Amino acid sequence: MTPGTVYLVGAGPGDPGLLTVRAAELIGRADVILHDRLIPPGVLDRARPDAEIVFVGKQGGGEQVPQREIDRLLLDRARAGKDVVRLKGGDPFVFGRGGEEALVCLEAGVPFEVVPGVTAGVAAPAYAGIPVTHRDLASGVAFVTGHEDPAKPGSALDWPAIAAFPGTLVFYMGVRALPRIAQQLVAGGRPADEPVAVVERGTLPGQRTLLATLSDVAERAAAERIRAPAITLVGPVANLREQIAWLERRPLHGRTIAVTRARPQASALAARLRELGAAVIEAPAIRTQPLDAELPDLAAYDLLCVTSPNGAHALFERLAAAGRDARALAGATVAAIGQGTARALAEHGIRADVVPERAVAEGLVEALEGATVTRALVVRAREGRDVLPDALRERGAAVDVLALYETVAEPLDAGTASAAAHADYVTFTSASTVRYFLAAAGALDGPRIASIGPATSAALRDAGLEPDVEADPHTPDGLIAALVADART
Ligand code: SAH
Repeated sequence: MTPGTVYLVGAGPGDPGLLTVRAAELIGRADVILHDRLIPPGVLDRARPDAEIVFVGKQGGGEQVPQREIDRLLLDRARAGKDVVRLKGGDPFVFGRGGEEALVCLEAGVPFEVVPGVTAGVAAPAYAGIPVTHRDLASGVAFVTGHEDPAKPGSALDWPAIAAFPGTLVFYMGVRALPRIAQQLVAGGRPADEPVAVVERGTLPGQRTLLATLSDVAERAAAERIRAPAITLVGPVANLREQIAWLERRPLHGRTIAVTRARPQASALAARLRELGAAVIEAPAIRTQPLDAELPDLAAYDLLCVTSPNGAHALFERLAAAGRDARALAGATVAAIGQGTARALAEHGIRADVVPERAVAEGLVEALEGATVTRALVVRAREGRDVLPDALRERGAAVDVLALYETVAEPLDAGTASAAAHADYVTFTSASTVRYFLAAAGALDGPRIASIGPATSAALRDAGLEPDVEADPHTPDGLIAALVADART
């Protein structure tokens, strides 16, 4: 049997956005993934559902799975013809034992490839606003392990040589050894007031940076309870943080925001909130479920109203199932409730004729003022409001309502519900998110409540909650802008 390939893959320092394209591709296709503890949250969601995923890191700060056992697994699976991704934090060849594993493969005649990753020693300082080199301040950078087993003879670091290095020193694994590192560097001739930065959980939510000097870093790191994983950087470039620190300046930095909308829509909103610096808790309280509805003869209508992106997608799924396409809508005026729905229609080749400024049913009623409508079809969720059909009927139109999906509760696990209930903000993007989230999480007392618009705010008030933030326009963009404005105050 031809052996599979072993891929020694770096997963980056923690921010899922710093995973390389190549790493993502290989994770998505591997038969087997052997991974460490320090890999970005969520990266394994990219794995095939049938992939074998084995954790080979340190068990809860305890014993490491022995390297011999990891080597055995690597070779065993590869020899069985499987492609194996050996996934490590940061870069596989920087304090990651990737070199040893490559040699093991070589010796066994198992083909291997190396996928470099963004290493913590560069990325954590960068997220703290510290360039590891700088034309005037540091013309070199050294990566040093702070974890040296003092009992291991012959492997002790050459401290005088390290102290004499003309450039930035970056220590990995050095939190517990901080007192010794600082003391050895000063003994080796580095100035006691040389700047030191310790970056804890670099690139991850909750990243903390301590800016100190060689003389006080050990004491201050202990006082602030800095814990692994952390990078310690020594050199004058550390002071550039005072000017360059960019992470903490993002408008939602330090804010925890819970997103309650359905998972497919939640991830886009979550990604944008994260980009603005928020720590996002995805707590989807609802899910949509297609309904078994018969498509009427669309040619019979002169107006087709679509009241949500979900409705647009559901309509085209139903059309496709019937072997039809966008031409079925050729005769009707198409109205979308808002820009999101208009975009969803556009994905299926339909440019909406009417899109109101205000993305609510009342806005659509207004936008349709003056249009002559004989027969209208309203495509929506089962639980939608009747504002639009009622208004059209009042104007003398015959109106059919086609419910193509319904919104149901998405079970929330207790941990997520409680984390969301303790966030700085909980965002609600529909009346159903209000109803089902509160049913799952219980009363909310603490977080600020952010509502996407009047209909959602009304549902909140019905539940006894006064929204602190209401978006205008009533769109995800409007909600983000309202959160940013509120966080500023
Ligand atoms: N191969 C990894 C390093 C593995 S050694 C890389 O290239 O980044 C583990 C050490 O890396 C930790 O003790 C810590 O010093 C550092 N480290 C890893 N992730 C980190 C993070 N998100 N923030 C700060 N330091 C990190």
